[in-house]
Amino acid sequence: MSRSPARRLRHMHDLLFQAYGPQRWWPARTPFEVVLGAYLTQNTAWTAVERSLANLRAAHALTLEGFRKLPLSDLQNLIRPSGFHTRKAPALKAFVGLLDAEFSGSLKKLAAVPTQTLRRRLLALPRVGPETADAILLYALGHPVPVADEYLRRIVTRHHLLKPPPARGRAGYDALAALTRRAFAADPPAQHAGLFNEFHALTVAAGKAHCGLAPHCDGCPLAADLARPPSHP
Ligand code: SF4
Repeated sequence: MSRSPARRLRHMHDLLFQAYGPQRWWPARTPFEVVLGAYLTQNTAWTAVERSLANLRAAHALTLEGFRKLPLSDLQNLIRPSGFHTRKAPALKAFVGLLDAEFSGSLKKLAAVPTQTLRRRLLALPRVGPETADAILLYALGHPVPVADEYLRRIVTRHHLLKPPPARGRAGYDALAALTRRAFAADPPAQHAGLFNEFHALTVAAGKAHCGLAPHCDGCPLAADLARPPSHP
């Protein structure tokens, strides 16, 4: 009997966890660094983000206090390595503007807003799409939301886990997130944030090692799933 796509995806988490172990994301020291990274990584490799974060660290702007003091033009120069700096800099300033105007400059107060209300508030900010909003919600603010990205999209598409098949090979963000939610629905809710955290990090690890623009299935921890009968004929 074939497993449902959600059960297969849940099992894929276990296969990746056995192969790679805990990833302990996000690679940041503070929640505000997570926010900065979530914006800076848009359309950019993480190595470029690291160069921007190093510039911000040298300018003492990785804290909210330091960041507020930084003029917009200086911020643009410091984050230039991660691209789109003339758009990302005002977008980051808009995030801190919201934080200061409505939450007394406190990420803890922001995190206390109910998940769906907060998600809508973040999505209304400039340059915040679903992936950026969910990365901030999960990794900076501790809300139990899945993060979907291009690596997950490739895995789900190549393993035919969505029905109907995604148009032109591109699964939509909401469909990927909903499938991930179903995959972990049987796990205790208190564990969802930790599981979504690890699952996203593990799929990125698999994507970087094996499932890039072209799949390299030999040795991939998920190759066993390809041999299963398809969930959807
Ligand atoms: S590399 Fe192959 S086995 Fe691995 S996730 Fe991609 S399609 Fe699946």
